[in-house]
Amino acid sequence: MAATASDEEFLLAVLNSTPVVDGAPTDDLADRARARRWLAAAGGVGSDAELRHVLDVRQALQTVVRGEQPPDVLAPLLQGMTYVPAMADGRISWILSVPPERRLAARAVLAWDALAGRGSGRLRPCANDECRLFLIDHSKANAARWCSMAVCGNRMKARRHYQRTRSLQAE
Ligand SMILES: [Zn+2]
Repeated sequence: MAATASDEEFLLAVLNSTPVVDGAPTDDLADRARARRWLAAAGGVGSDAELRHVLDVRQALQTVVRGEQPPDVLAPLLQGMTYVPAMADGRISWILSVPPERRLAARAVLAWDALAGRGSGRLRPCANDECRLFLIDHSKANAARWCSMAVCGNRMKARRHYQRTRSLQAE
C-alpha cells in the first residue's frame, strides 16, 4: 500500500521531533501536554498511551534509519496491527485495523516501510553529523544530502571551504 504525502509528512515530523537547537539536542515531544495536543492535531486521540507508542516508534525508526539497528527492531511495534477486507464501490479494499492509541505509531511504521523498507533509500539522516534531522528525497537524482540546503547545506559547504583554505595555508 503506497504511503500518502501526509503519511510521509507525519513520519518526517516524528523523526524530526528531536532537533539540535544551539548545539544541544532537544525533544519537541518532551512536554506531555504539548505532545498530546500535537498528536491530536495529527489525527490521533491525544492520550498518554498514544504518546508512549509514538515515542517508541520514533526511537526505533531513528536508529533504523541511521543504520544503527536492523529493521527487525520494529517487529514489536507491529503488534495488534491487522488488515481487514471491506467492500467499497464493488471492490475489496484492505483497511488497517489497529487499536486507536496505536494508530499514529502504526502510520509512521507503514510510511517508513513504503519509503525505506523496500530499498528506495529516499529516507535518510542529514549528512551534517551535528544535525539530528532526517530528509525524504523526492528529487529525480535522489542525491539530496541535507535536511535543508539553506541551513545544513550551506553550513557544511562553508566548513569544507574553511578546511580546504586552512590545509592550503598549512602546506
Ligand atoms: Zn541537517
